[in-house]
Amino acid sequence: MKVMEIGELKIEVVKKEIKNIHLAVYPKGNIRLTSPRDLKDSTIRLYAISKLSWIKRQQRKFEKQERESYRNYVERESHYLFGKRLLLKLKEAEMPSKVLIRNKTQLELTVRPGADREKKEKLLEEFYRNELKKRIPELIEKWEKKIGVKVSAWGVKKMTTKWGTCNREAKRIWINLELAKKPISCLEYIIVHEMVHIIERHHNDKFMSLMTKHLPKWKQLKNELNTSPVSHIDWEY
Ligand SMILES: [Zn+2]
Repeated sequence: MKVMEIGELKIEVVKKEIKNIHLAVYPKGNIRLTSPRDLKDSTIRLYAISKLSWIKRQQRKFEKQERESYRNYVERESHYLFGKRLLLKLKEAEMPSKVLIRNKTQLELTVRPGADREKKEKLLEEFYRNELKKRIPELIEKWEKKIGVKVSAWGVKKMTTKWGTCNREAKRIWINLELAKKPISCLEYIIVHEMVHIIERHHNDKFMSLMTKHLPKWKQLKNELNTSPVSHIDWEY
């Protein structure tokens, strides 16, 4: 791998046995260009220069997502539960911490006096985990009947690059904790996606047609998720 510098940008260049140039910007801002082996460096440089505004646009998008995903847990800060915006209300009391939704618009956090940001973050994570655990079983049950597969185990966990995963042999699926913040239709899409993997491992024509058969608007839901900080669904396994 080589690094090509264009102004202040550093682009990692990888040469491979491929036919076309491929350019990618990653969430941390690094840029990678993959090119056919026989392409000249001067040609690669020209190509990269022609893509500069696109590269900068991608980097800005990731920066913005990074900012938006960070929370300080302060009064009236926006938090989302299944796509609905709630405003944070903080209460301090000498009692076990708890989270409550008030008037469908407020997310009330009760914490012990002096609780720090990490405490509040943990508390809210537990709340999100529980909310997901309340919703997931009925969705799995609904789709077990429709798709005709059985899920033997499922769980919720924090994942940074995947919305869900599926272990076909064990028929076990994992759901990303972040989905508690997205509309319930997105959670449903990921559940269906992972369940279809029990039938078909790859994202091939069979997989796509099963998705379309069961959830005709899946592409729309996928796009909705792809504009979120967790930027892609696992298209690898
Ligand atoms: Zn998949």
